[in-house]
Amino acid sequence: MVTLPLVLQVAVPAPLYTLFDYLPPEGCDSSWLCPGLRVKVPFGSGVRCGFILAVRTISELDPGKLKRVIELVEKEPLLGREDMALLRWAAGYYQYPLGEVMAGALPVRLRKGEKPSFIAGRPGWQLTDSGRKVDPELLTRAPRQAEIIRAMRAAGGALPRDEITAKFGRCRGVLGALGQKGWLESCEIEPGVGNPYPERAPEMPSPPELNDHQRDAVAEISRRHDRFGVFLLDGVTGSGKTEVYIRLVERIVQQGKQVLVLVPEIGLTPQLMGRFQRRIGAPMALLHSSLSEKSRELAWHSARTGEAGVVIGTRSAVFVPLPDLGLILVDEEHDLSFKQQEGFRYSARDLAVVRAQRRDCPVILGSATPSLETFRNALEGRYHHLRLPERAGAAREPRLDLLDIRSSPLEAGISPTLARMVKEQLSEGNQVLMFLNRRGYSPLLTCFECGWTAQCRRCDARMTLHLSSRQLWCHHCGSRRRIDPVCPDCGDPALKPMGQGTERLEESLQKRLPEFDIVRIDRDSTRRRGSLERLLTEIRSGKHSLLLGTQMLAKGHHFPDVTLVGIIDVDHGLYGADYRAAERMAQQIIQVAGRAGRAERPGRVVIQTRHPDHPLLQKLLRQGYAAFARESLLERREAGLPPYSHQVLLRAEAHRADAPSLFLEEAAGLARNRAGAEMALWGPVPAPMERRAGRFRAHLLVQSEKRAELHSLLGWWVPELCRLKSARRVRWSVDVDPQEML
Ligand code: ADP
Ligand code: ZN
Ligand code: ZN
Repeated sequence: MVTLPLVLQVAVPAPLYTLFDYLPPEGCDSSWLCPGLRVKVPFGSGVRCGFILAVRTISELDPGKLKRVIELVEKEPLLGREDMALLRWAAGYYQYPLGEVMAGALPVRLRKGEKPSFIAGRPGWQLTDSGRKVDPELLTRAPRQAEIIRAMRAAGGALPRDEITAKFGRCRGVLGALGQKGWLESCEIEPGVGNPYPERAPEMPSPPELNDHQRDAVAEISRRHDRFGVFLLDGVTGSGKTEVYIRLVERIVQQGKQVLVLVPEIGLTPQLMGRFQRRIGAPMALLHSSLSEKSRELAWHSARTGEAGVVIGTRSAVFVPLPDLGLILVDEEHDLSFKQQEGFRYSARDLAVVRAQRRDCPVILGSATPSLETFRNALEGRYHHLRLPERAGAAREPRLDLLDIRSSPLEAGISPTLARMVKEQLSEGNQVLMFLNRRGYSPLLTCFECGWTAQCRRCDARMTLHLSSRQLWCHHCGSRRRIDPVCPDCGDPALKPMGQGTERLEESLQKRLPEFDIVRIDRDSTRRRGSLERLLTEIRSGKHSLLLGTQMLAKGHHFPDVTLVGIIDVDHGLYGADYRAAERMAQQIIQVAGRAGRAERPGRVVIQTRHPDHPLLQKLLRQGYAAFARESLLERREAGLPPYSHQVLLRAEAHRADAPSLFLEEAAGLARNRAGAEMALWGPVPAPMERRAGRFRAHLLVQSEKRAELHSLLGWWVPELCRLKSARRVRWSVDVDPQEML
């Protein structure tokens, strides 16, 4: 009998679309070899950590010429068969190299080929017996101490040191003080313990009784809990979607299954997190970017081993191995952050649906403003459409009004009418939220003498003036420079800021309303770790009465005392270059508006505009989001745009101005020869911002009504593109189902 030599097919993380064959390591017991194992392999002049995809006895290459695997990293694969299959599917669908996709699905250390470290305990702090008796509400003079005690209680009495730092920033002094009082002591935290094991908080209020709509939704989903189905939970802001999630999660966890919860950004959905932690009695793992690598790896293992009953994470959590997965939940499914905009450009929302289908379990997409793709699927019956049309409890939906500012004298962007309303609400002791989605002081610095404006030297874009740091910043490439003291063109010494940013709005409101406390929430004011959480806590405690901020304030928060929301500038969304601009604008308005009137006191929303007659704006305000969505879908259908067609965007950029279009022309030529009549190719055209970070950018849009045709073209086209000479002179990327044309 002849024994054929075994050949390992390996996915190596590299920007290449090919798989590689290797021989097993010298003297390796072949019974260990199986798909999913990590292997260290010689690659180019270095060593990389790849994954075995298949163990075979054939190779297209002469086995005599194959290199050997250097080392098997482990004997048991970290990724199961099902996990690998999902990753392979995703790599194929989004046309991204499989080795990169697989490596990206692992925690950073494991990606590099290191051994899992879930054995050692972690240094941490725990509440002592006397610490457990302390009521943090009474520690009003030591708010940081109170916060830490509260967090420890929520986590079951102990927290690893790195998580405390991740949450509260540097706080050695505070911990020391707590230690001296005898309330805290340092300890070693058992593997997997810490954040994953919240204890039900003793002061938990009893859960509300569900209203009829909520009960129907829970019943409908529960009835189909054991098979695949997509549910759109289409509930107005404050309708109690989270309450529905909690009841379902409890049920699934009781059946011994795991639940995956995907959220847009953990920092922005602290309430959802907190409520899950208080209410669900199962071990919970968190996966998001503000955790340390180590905590994230521990959470990942607790998911993979089935220890964590609930896994809450941002988009990349869609790939976390979950042996007992029984339900996937995508909160705020319309949110753009579910789509990765660089490298492996996947949509976690769409992959959640694919994963549920492969797993044969339900998936819930929740939103007050569903994406048009999802909305259409619900309208056409492919998704179960569950509606929560009213706010829960005593709260009512806010009243929305347009405020025509065409002939108003604005002060820092605010009309006298809005200013009066703000003052009125504040004087009555209510909170007011002002929304302006532009950070910095002003978006433009200009010379009134000659018309010069401060431009980024590396982008086709204006620099934003940031007065607090006394700099001009480009929000596109991140470059910064000093504020020009005089006009560089004409020497005029009086350069003027034009337009409003959050910094300027804050300055002006502070001047006008000195008696009220203002808090600004944007990327600049929350740069330090833990500062967003701190500010949000302060808002809920009533420390600030006027809240001012960007979209960071718009999402998911529950601020019961806000009675008035002012939207300073809605117009830039009305006539955007992107066909999705109107959809985004509508979602933003409804989400921000949703922060008003969430408790007993009624809420009002005032939207300043110079286009009060805009038809889509009118539709949205008079008839609501669903009517707006139907109308927009009609327009999309007529124009043949997604979701009525499918798109792929081929982008290219280079320092040389002509390189991108040369490459894209060649790419288009290849596609035209091969594509059927159904396929439309648009371009190449320069990107809306042609130059960014010193590179010239262009793209080619491929569109078809038939997804299968588009993908069969891609399968052939992308490997061909790699072979083009002109491809070597550009950076290029393929974006399947692009969300932004930038
Ligand atoms: P959504 O997630 O839809 O914005 P939430 O689940 O945050 O809404 O609910 C909004 C508020 O209403 C929360 O304070 C929640 O506790 C409360 N709530 C939810 N369901 C009920 C109910 N059936 N009865 C009373 N209050 C409820
Ligand atoms: Zn000038
Ligand atoms: Zn720039």
